[in-house]
Amino acid sequence: MKLIIANWKLNPHLWADASKLLDEIRHHPTDKTVVICPPAIYLPLIKSPFHLGAQDIHWEHSGAHTGQISAPMVKQFHVEYVLIGHSELRGLWQQDHHINKKIKAALEHDLSPVLCIGSNSTDNEAIKKDLDQQLSIALEDIDPSKIILAYEPIWAIGTGQAATPEHAALITKYLKEKFPVPAVLYGGSANATNAASYLQVVDGLLVGGASLKPNDFKAILDSNP
Ligand code: PEP
Repeated sequence: MKLIIANWKLNPHLWADASKLLDEIRHHPTDKTVVICPPAIYLPLIKSPFHLGAQDIHWEHSGAHTGQISAPMVKQFHVEYVLIGHSELRGLWQQDHHINKKIKAALEHDLSPVLCIGSNSTDNEAIKKDLDQQLSIALEDIDPSKIILAYEPIWAIGTGQAATPEHAALITKYLKEKFPVPAVLYGGSANATNAASYLQVVDGLLVGGASLKPNDFKAILDSNP
């Protein structure tokens, strides 16, 4: 079954808007597994049939870490998945050794880590090198069979400039040959128009902007290879 993960990022800005967005998509029939990753404050809003994801966790359970949330905290809200290493956070302060500790914390609490990896390059060999470097540290002492990978070219995130499905296929094949992960997702300006072509070559999508537009998101849920 294909996996569609909605990353709401810092949206919507009101509880009522989050509730309305959910109402508009909740009853849409789909053959996909759908995970919603809202801002943490909206976690209690997300109910079946959706699965729940956190946008990030800290590796510590508790302590002097202002602004952070931990794996045991999100578990109380029935969170099953957690995005780790999103490029918007890597840009702020996260490095691969932090990401490694976050994955370990997630696994300790039976959360499924969705490890986001990507490169700024458009050259396939340079991209593979960047991904190898990120993964060699992020997956140190970690069983890859427990990790979902999300390949997100940095230049494609939120820009409307999606990678070609051929590129997504090439990188997915490369990753799967090196790491026995159960799934590789594509992320980066996935939308209602291009979703079907990605779903021919990847196991699912990580969707940012289009997950906030109910009609677009429902069209993605309807997309079939
Ligand atoms: C993302 O946030 O991971 C993402 C892929 O965003 P967008 O779909 O808006 O490019």
